Amino acid sequence: MMQRITVAFGDGIGPEIMRATLEILEAADVPLAYDVIEIGAKAYEQGYDNGIPPEAWETLYKNPVILKAPIRTPQGGGYKSLNVTIRKRLGLFANVRPCRALTPFVHSQFPNMDIVIVRENEEDLYTGIEYQQSAQVVQALKVVSVPGSEAIIRFAFEYARLYGRKKVTCMTKDNIMKQTDGLFHKLFERIAKDYPEIEHEHKIIDIGSAFVAARPYDLDVVVTLNLYGDIISDIAALVAGSVGLSGSANIGRTHAMFEAIHGTAPDIAGKGIANPSGLLNAAIMMLVHLGLTQHATLIHNAWLKTIEDGIHTGDIYRTHQSKRLVGTAEFAQAVIERLGEEPKQLKAVRYEKTTPIQLPQPVYEPVQKTLVGVDVFISKYTTAEQLAEQIQQSNPPIPLKLIANRGMQVYPDSSTTFCTDLWHCRFVKTPEQVVDHQTVITLLQQLAEQSLDFVKIEHLYYINGKRAYALVQGEKEEDFFAVADKMPHP
Ligand code: NAD
Repeated sequence: MMQRITVAFGDGIGPEIMRATLEILEAADVPLAYDVIEIGAKAYEQGYDNGIPPEAWETLYKNPVILKAPIRTPQGGGYKSLNVTIRKRLGLFANVRPCRALTPFVHSQFPNMDIVIVRENEEDLYTGIEYQQSAQVVQALKVVSVPGSEAIIRFAFEYARLYGRKKVTCMTKDNIMKQTDGLFHKLFERIAKDYPEIEHEHKIIDIGSAFVAARPYDLDVVVTLNLYGDIISDIAALVAGSVGLSGSANIGRTHAMFEAIHGTAPDIAGKGIANPSGLLNAAIMMLVHLGLTQHATLIHNAWLKTIEDGIHTGDIYRTHQSKRLVGTAEFAQAVIERLGEEPKQLKAVRYEKTTPIQLPQPVYEPVQKTLVGVDVFISKYTTAEQLAEQIQQSNPPIPLKLIANRGMQVYPDSSTTFCTDLWHCRFVKTPEQVVDHQTVITLLQQLAEQSLDFVKIEHLYYINGKRAYALVQGEKEEDFFAVADKMPHP
């Protein structure tokens, strides 16, 4: 049965590599019909700030699968990234990027490298929630949710199970970001228990990245947050020797989008010399996703044989490992001629029919939140001591526990750290005290009466009896346990 998918030809080399890819799919008798949409540069020029006209959205929503060539996002001027917009609107929470070496035909220092990066695609610092609220400081909000983290972690284990992978490595920076990355790591350990046959481990992202760069053969499936995933997936692709060869999948609960990892390559656009392999590999992942595994196997093996025969585009052509320098169309023709053949040295692939990964709809219990204080951020050119004195004069209804600057406690027990004009004032209740929203409003009212420019507040909670905010550098934990001891434990 013919399935309909959405196709975007993109900008720069996009149309050339998409034509080559579709020619190969056609020659392999792939039963797909295409709805072509115009998104990208033209739509940006027509005034659509995310590069997507309304009629394209209709098609994007209608068909569950999209094959997309790279798009040029204009710099600055209020334009939004088309990729981020599509990922968010269609809920494409998982970015999957396999990186496999093709030595000796494409150079890589690690012939046995074969890893898959599974990157969270919607949250973290990519929510783009950023502010400037004082002259000297800008801030970004890092958003990590339980449902978002559970979905990507479970997806990584399901992926490993589906494709017979042995190990899942989680990478975070939870030694520093104990709340956000700490949550991700904790959920990873919990979910790993549901997959006892798959080995699991955690690495701090710095040493984890070093492993991707220098010991990738020790890794198998890697699951990580959005920003780290973005960075290590490019490292992994380059280390495999193949930025121009890799495809990636963006998977959601209802939709999926497949694309090459490279951009529009404006320097070679229109010359007919671009390598279509990245997009072709994305298309192969798409065929597997659609259950067209025989076609995926046929095309993937023909592509491996083409690479093995030394028929290379300029980006991977090297005299000692290549035999024939070809352009985009010739490369596609060479793949078509090899449909039905298998590689001899490189490992041939055989995709089995699988059902797409389905994630359970988790049910979340309400939590018991107890307000124990509030952080008030105040913008002012002053010193910590002067600010503390002014705050005390306002007679705050919750005691001022400390003032921090750039995360470092500077009052009491002042340090020599450089202080900006944005002060982080932490008010924490006494063990006997009960505070609520009204107490916070009274506090703010009294600060306003002292002409203190508060620009942001954050509530301090204990959730289910545990501290649910990070301590400031230099802050003493014991005081908080004293507070906690007085609290009802659920
Ligand atoms: P790029 O990936 O387009 O190019 C980097 C280098 O790699 C260039 O020298 C280019 O010639 C080469 N290259 C890339 N793909 C190739 C291919 N298939 N065959 C041969 N050589 C290839 O990166 P860039 O120059 O940083 O970005 C150019 C534009 O692409 C920017 O406007 C950027 O916003 C956009 N971009 C889009 C996507 C996407 O749509 N998913 C991803 C990345 C960049």
